[in-house]
Amino acid sequence: MASTLIVPDCSSSTAAGASCFIPVNKIRIRRSVFHVHQQISIARWGHKASLLNIDTRRLFSPMALTVASNAETSAKVIDGKSVAKHIREEISTEISRMKEAIGVIPGLAVVLVGDRKDSATYVRNKKKACDDVGIKSYEIHLSEDSTEQEVLKYISEFNDDPSIHGILVQLPLPRHMNEENVLNAVSIDKDVDGFHPLNIGRLAMRGREPMFVPCTPKGCIVLLHRYGVTIKGKRAVVIGRSNIVGMPAALLLQREDATVTIVHSRTKNPEEIVRQADIIISAAGQPNMVRGSWIKPGAVIIDVGINPVDVRSKSPRGYHLVGDVCYEEACRVASAITPVPGGVGPMTIAMLLSNTLSSAKRAHNFD
Ligand code: NAD
Repeated sequence: MASTLIVPDCSSSTAAGASCFIPVNKIRIRRSVFHVHQQISIARWGHKASLLNIDTRRLFSPMALTVASNAETSAKVIDGKSVAKHIREEISTEISRMKEAIGVIPGLAVVLVGDRKDSATYVRNKKKACDDVGIKSYEIHLSEDSTEQEVLKYISEFNDDPSIHGILVQLPLPRHMNEENVLNAVSIDKDVDGFHPLNIGRLAMRGREPMFVPCTPKGCIVLLHRYGVTIKGKRAVVIGRSNIVGMPAALLLQREDATVTIVHSRTKNPEEIVRQADIIISAAGQPNMVRGSWIKPGAVIIDVGINPVDVRSKSPRGYHLVGDVCYEEACRVASAITPVPGGVGPMTIAMLLSNTLSSAKRAHNFD
């Protein structure tokens, strides 16, 4: 876990002493500016299915009707936890069908180097998620001082192993390793993280199809689809330009015909740019950076940020997780928003499972 931060009270511009950690169902909020609700229909979610490697028709179900709405606030909660659960159930059913039909079980290999606790936790969670849906997981755990050559050797073995359909290198790698060399070594057709430059390059090019789309941005777009948010023709702002979230999220939105602006740490007057957005995807890693005043009434907000915030006096754990967006303020202005936690986070692992299943299906020509 990254070090915790003490941040200014998110709601300092509103009720004195209120906190951004107040559960949203306890907040009294005026109904006023929310004329854009009709954006959140539940009708459209069948398009772009091939790129996202998900059978969207199967996933479209009464689930979409369970949009959690806060009685006293106007923003709908985009419930990533329940969407992800539903997707995992679908994946599990598909895996059973494939096993029965052709005897193939999807396999995911994870390479972990070093002793970072957060990385170990992520790998453990991924392994459990694989077990739950019936994906066979393989883990190689190398010590911090292993060489890049050792990592490359394992990747090469996994590339050649037909029982493995996905290879994931847990990042960050120790400093003495060249991340680019390591990620480039993963076979493009097992690159379930979607970080191989060929997959990213194809994502960026018109008329090309990547074999895999990076999991977190893919999860953001699936949530928008799932909640019937129209992307085509909308103004979208992505905050952050990292290789793993911001940049591919912007590419995906552009592929879906949004007009996309990227805001980053050197952007001047970010609030003015963000205020123009119908859709905001924030992946800056800056707790409560996006205030209510930055948000256009009715905008849809996908908050990727996961920021531990020091609240020693309020929580036995000593910290809370908050997003990049001040949730309480945003709920008064936006038409829909992902919570943190429980928004994008659960979708990331669901997309990893989905990519691994797609890879196995492709390898065995199973539809
Ligand atoms: P990163 O540090 O690699 O990139 C952050 C980006 O934000 C950079 O491009 C930087 O230019 C931009 N940025 C930083 N400060 C800014 C500011 N003040 N204004 C505008 N832009 C700013 O981080 P990352 O790996 O892309 O992750 C971003 C956040 O998303 C983190 O909080 C991380 O924990 C979270 N995350 C969540 C998931 C998930 O599954 N939900 C997955 C990956 C990352």
